[in-house]
Formats: sequence, C-alpha cells, structure tokens
Amino acid sequence: MQYRSTRNSNLRRNASQVIAQGISAEGGLFVPDSLPNVRDKFSLWSGLNYRELAKEIFAYFLTDFSQEEIAACVEKAYTPEHFGGGEPVKLVPLADGGEKKYLLELWRGPTCAFKDMALQILPHFLTKSLAKAAPGKEAVILTATSGDTGKAALEGFRDVPGTRIIVFYPRDGVSPMQKRQMATQEGGNVTVCAVEGNFDDAQTAVKQIFTDASMKAALESSGMIFSSANSINWGRLLPQIVYYFYSYFQLYRMGAIKSPGDEINIAVPTGNFGNILAAYYASRMGLPVKKLICASNANRVLTDFIRTGVYDRRREFFATMSPSMDILVSSNLERLLYVLSGEDSTALSQLMKELSETGVYSVGGEVLEKMQKLLFGGSCNDEETSRTIHETLERDGYLCDTHTAVAVNVYRQYVSETGDSDTPTVIASTASPYKFAKSVLAAIESQIPEDEFDAMKRLEEVSQTEAPEQLWALKEKKIRFKGTIPKEQAGDFIRRTIGIGGS
Ligand SMILES: *Cc1c(COP(=O)(O)O)cnc(C)c1O
Repeated sequence: MQYRSTRNSNLRRNASQVIAQGISAEGGLFVPDSLPNVRDKFSLWSGLNYRELAKEIFAYFLTDFSQEEIAACVEKAYTPEHFGGGEPVKLVPLADGGEKKYLLELWRGPTCAFKDMALQILPHFLTKSLAKAAPGKEAVILTATSGDTGKAALEGFRDVPGTRIIVFYPRDGVSPMQKRQMATQEGGNVTVCAVEGNFDDAQTAVKQIFTDASMKAALESSGMIFSSANSINWGRLLPQIVYYFYSYFQLYRMGAIKSPGDEINIAVPTGNFGNILAAYYASRMGLPVKKLICASNANRVLTDFIRTGVYDRRREFFATMSPSMDILVSSNLERLLYVLSGEDSTALSQLMKELSETGVYSVGGEVLEKMQKLLFGGSCNDEETSRTIHETLERDGYLCDTHTAVAVNVYRQYVSETGDSDTPTVIASTASPYKFAKSVLAAIESQIPEDEFDAMKRLEEVSQTEAPEQLWALKEKKIRFKGTIPKEQAGDFIRRTIGIGGS
C-alpha cells in the first residue's frame, strides 16, 4: 500500500517512509491511497484474539514490513506486562434504561489513557521504519500534548535506542496528575517542557518546527531526523483501527449483534479527531457503522462544524475538566475532509491555508452532506459532564472519567434527537477515572481533599473500584522536569536539547 499527502496527492510514499517522517514536507498529512474491504474476513476474524487481529489488519497497511516484523512489533507492544493481563482492551456492557451501550475500555496500559494503545507500538513501528527509510539516523520525536499523549509517548519511547523524545505541554492546560506523570518521567533520552499558552499554541509551535527548512538541514547534518508521536503520524492512527473491529467481534460473541453485518454506532470523546478518524477508517474497510458520534466538551468547534459546515476557531478557549479534548484546531479532520472532498489536495490546501490565515473556513454542498450522514456532533459543558459521571455511577454502577462522560452525555443527546436507542453503541472509554480523580470525585461528593492522592483514595472508597498502581507509584517519584518557555522559544529549546547550533 502507498500513501499520499492531503496537500499533495501526486506524492507517493510507503509505510516506513510515512511513519519515519510523521508529516509531509509541505505540511500535509499522510493518508492511505486506498482502503481494503475486509468484509469477507469477518467470520475468520471473529475468533481472533487482539494480537492476532492486529497482525491481520496491520498487514494490509504495512506492506513494506515482513510478517515477522509485524508480529514482532505486536508481540512486544500488547503484552500482559504492559496491559495488566488478559486482552489489552475490554468491552463492558451497561444495561441501562433500554439503551444499548458498551464501554470500550482503552486505558489498561502503562499511562492509563487510550493513547497507550498506539504509543506502545509506535516505537517498534518507528525503529523498523527508520532502519528501512533512514538507516543510521537518530529520530528526534517531537510531541505536543494536551496531557495524555505526552506521557504515553514518553513511556513508549523511553530508552528506545536510536530515538530521543521531547514533549511540550501547555503549562496551565493539563491535570495535576498528567503533569506529575510527565514531570517524573524516567529515561535517558527524554525531555519534557511546559509551554506558555494552550494546546493549540504548543501544537502550532511543533508543527512549524517540522516544516522549518533551516532546522531540518541542521538536524540532517547531525545525522538526525524529526518524527512525530502525535496523531498526525499515521503510525498512531493505524493501531487504533484494530480495537473498533475487535469490539465489533466482541459484541458478536456476546450476542449483542446477531449476524456479522448488523450495524453499530461508535461514540468517541474527541479532541484532535484521531480516535474517531480511526473508527471512520474501520467503517470504510467494511465495519458496519451507522453513525459516528463525535463528542466535544465546551470547546465545541467540531460540533458546530458538523452542524453548519463552518469551522471557526476564532472563539473563546475553555480550560475544562476534560483537558485532553481542549483543542480548537483538530488536526486529523484534514484527513477526513481530504476523502470527503474527493481527494482533492488543491482544495484541501486552500481550506487549511484559510484556517491558518483567517481562523475560519467552510464547506458546503456534497461535502457537508456526506459529513452529516457520517457524523453526529454534540457537546456538553463541565456541569453536564459532572452530572453524567454522577448519573452513570448511580444508574449503571460504572465510574467513568471526565472525557468518557462527555461521550456518554452526547450519546444520550443522539438518542433523544434521533430516537435510535436500538443500535448497539460502542462508547470509547478513553482514560481511567483515577487520572482525573479530583474532578471525578467532585462530581460525586461535595468534600474534595486538596491532595490528588487523597482524592484517589476517597474515590476508591466511594466507587468500590481500585486505582491503577501506576498512578499510586507517582507519589514517590522525583520531579525531574520543571521548566516553562514561551512558545516562540520552542525551536531554540530543541536546538539546545539535541545539541545542534545556529538559529
Ligand atoms: C487524547 C484524548 C482524547 C481525544 O482523542 P483524539 O484522538 O485527540 O480526538 C479523549 N480522551 C482522552 C482521555 C484522551 O487522552
């Protein structure tokens, strides 16, 4: 399989090149040039375990990897050691009020968020890709994070030979636990730095560095190349396709769907549009999806876009209790629009130019129609999120985190707007509630301890569940990274960190 760039459809690259590079030189994102239809594999695949299924799916996309290479990546990533025994993901049915909802728990990995599903395997994909596409080069992984990507990337890449990783997070835009997770990161090849501003500032700074020619030249002469652990990297999206298929076969095994071909809905708490895009790719490959439910928090730029066709980031930015979704520029939307606009990279480049120059663009006609057929968009604010956490615990006996709660809430909006309570719906549960213990506890109780770990303890008591031991372990770890820089200094910071001169 070959890949093109959303901003240059004449370009052709193979998988190892796109994974090594992360983003295309002209700023576009890499997309597969065709998608396999796997419908005839369903009966075979419905009996596979997670790792086996992952190998089957990856084989379509990583055509310049050998089967052995793919198998090695999968076996090293999705181990019981990393994902707490059993299968790496779990589908939990919630029997409530006639709705058919199933929580797909994607947070059993080392950092307690769904990002581990991709970032435990990306380093293996990347080191193999480098050996093929840029032999002998050292990869410098630049990552902007709204909280969860950073930690998952640091954990995935720590001490991986031939790589260094630098993570930028918005100083005031991550939860205390997320900050602590990153500030205490161990490993000889890791650097973490806070940036003044919000996630969009951090992401823009990093994207600019990727396309900075002088930086690239300086890097090359030192035997290094930049790559990305953000979901702009195809190697981040590909692993996420697997769990949507897996959850479908799981529903089949549970008897929740009667025959392979019955439709499901998928609801995803959305920020950078990566996770829901993976569900879209799954649907294009033959997964029977009725609606993709795109759930946003108070930063409802996507909800408005889906409903009106106008993408307008010129609005107030809210720091919410679901910080990993506090995003106004959802990078991966570009990949969806590329497909919906008939793979017209000229039109797409124009839209993205408008976005960066004026902060707004709009789509209409057929593109909007196709998008609305595919997606339901909804949003909820912090108050509604809290209420949903409380209700879901009371009615379903399920403790969900602040991000997952947004999706549960928007799924309910979907049911009440459309009346579709019959279609089994997979809701992506993207983080452990303990990662956001204080906010989750505040939704349930009025007395909240000041200390994050005391809040975790209290949450264990009220919910009768257990906090992941990885989070408890943070209590004892030393803070290693304390610095904050203005976003304009990100380039200089990188030069200093990796020891290349000039500016
Ligand atoms: C990253 C993240 C999201 C948003 O996912 P995108 O792929 O950026 O849309 C939602 N919830 C949690 C917990 C996350 O870490």
